Amino acid sequence: MEIKKRLVLRFSKQIWDKPIVYKLIKDYDLILNILIANILPRHESYLVTEVTGEEENYNAGLKYLEKVGVRVSSIEQSVVRNIEKCVHCGACTAVCPTKSITIDKNTKEIKFDFSKCSACGWCVKVCPYNALEMFLMD
Ligand code: SF4
Ligand code: SF4
Repeated sequence: MEIKKRLVLRFSKQIWDKPIVYKLIKDYDLILNILIANILPRHESYLVTEVTGEEENYNAGLKYLEKVGVRVSSIEQSVVRNIEKCVHCGACTAVCPTKSITIDKNTKEIKFDFSKCSACGWCVKVCPYNALEMFLMD
């Protein structure tokens, strides 16, 4: 079964220059569609990437990442909405380039589909109530 997931990969300053993405593609036969790359020489760096591959390869690739010290989290863990602060004004839906945030026609409340999110952060910038936060770096 093929798996496709959007992940945030965090690299410490000790491993930022290692050919880890190359190994994922070559040794684990995974397809990486890089959505955001924030690579800083000798500093903590991160990638937001869509990873596609057979389940066995995907799981083996994640184990490899763990072994070499890459911290992996899902987009859902990286873009967080504070439900108590959100007033469903819809401002974030207007700027979301991937249509990850929409307004439910029936309830008039916003809905998130993080499977589409690229972690661009635009929604975080426009929210007038600071209801959205990103956790791309610790
Ligand atoms: S912009 Fe902020 S308050 Fe408005 S719907 Fe989006 S998350 Fe909620
Ligand atoms: S981070 Fe970007 S893609 Fe994700 S929900 Fe916000 S605006 Fe949409």
